[in-house]
Amino acid sequence: FADTPLISERGALHVFAPGDEARARKIAEDFGRDIAGVRLLGRNELLDRVPVLRPERVAGAVSDPECRDMDVAAIHQGFLRRARAAGARLLTDARVSWLARSGDRWRIRLADGREIAARAVVNAAGAWVDEVARMAELAPLGFQPLRRTIIVFRPAHATVDSGWPLVIDIDESFYFKPETGRILASPADETPSPPCDAQPDVIDIATIVDRLERWTVFDVPRIENRWAGLRTFAPDRVPVVGEDPRSAGFFWCAGQGGYGIQTAPAMGRLTAAVVLGRDLPSDLSAAGVDPARYAPARLLKKG
Ligand SMILES: Cc1cc2nc3c(=O)[nH]c(=O)nc-3n(C[C@H](O)[C@H](O)[C@H](O)COP(=O)(O)OP(=O)(O)OC[C@H]3O[C@@H](n4cnc5c(N)ncnc54)[C@H](O)[C@@H]3O)c2cc1C
Repeated sequence: FADTPLISERGALHVFAPGDEARARKIAEDFGRDIAGVRLLGRNELLDRVPVLRPERVAGAVSDPECRDMDVAAIHQGFLRRARAAGARLLTDARVSWLARSGDRWRIRLADGREIAARAVVNAAGAWVDEVARMAELAPLGFQPLRRTIIVFRPAHATVDSGWPLVIDIDESFYFKPETGRILASPADETPSPPCDAQPDVIDIATIVDRLERWTVFDVPRIENRWAGLRTFAPDRVPVVGEDPRSAGFFWCAGQGGYGIQTAPAMGRLTAAVVLGRDLPSDLSAAGVDPARYAPARLLKKG
């Protein structure tokens, strides 16, 4: 699939403030049901692991040892290579502008006038899935893109240790982690946005700098890089995979929210099984994946 490792150890520490001990214990219990090795760290152990946290601000952390870094580019290239090897053709610069069912086929028109005929269409257009549904004259399912902002900086008075875990507070109001000698951080914002090429907003950048300065001893002298992207959710925040009961051959693969990279191998195989009318791969069934849970029917208005 790839010549380089796709994931590497990181670990996550969900830090909490004095007074939040009971909530932290509950979170540790909840995480522990699905994740091996989850435990509570006291303040001293936490400060040993991440000495840039402000001692007066933190009481401890819930440690999740299973959190890992992903090499997103390598994962993407691996999937593309596999798809090409299996006979898929990748068309780029190919915006769909119209599609309609005609007999047992879909006719799909691209913005440059090209037309494609297909027995099945998979609507995997990210933040634009409801727009693509409208083109097919299907009422939208109510997906909401939410903007999230990232900054990268080199702190003024601290040396970044590449072994630090991902640090996130239990309210998910910020997170940071080391990234090639610098710090990557986010205010974990979820600002509703129309589907678009999202850009960072100054207020979100100011918010993350403020939260970092409250929780850590970091100085942020200069932001080296900043960007924003859209995380798109269904109304119930559960991904949507399956054929639309209103239109034969129109399938959804949408609403991965903030987990579309790590869930891609399973979501892809679930989508393939549903489109091809095959049984679910046995490892997904064994892991408790139930296709009915993800089917779009749940989001259609009754009556
Ligand atoms: C800041 C941030 C942090 C994240 N962190 C994580 C993380 O830690 N772990 C994780 O797993 N996920 C994470 N995600 C989420 C992850 O990036 C998404 O879930 C994933 O990229 C969704 O993939 P997708 O292919 O469904 O959508 P997209 O990547 O948005 O792709 C949709 C594609 O459809 C195309 N398209 C749209 N309209 C049309 C049209 N009319 N015709 C043709 N093509 C069209 C678009 O151009 C786009 O290329 C994060 C996202 C953000 C923004």
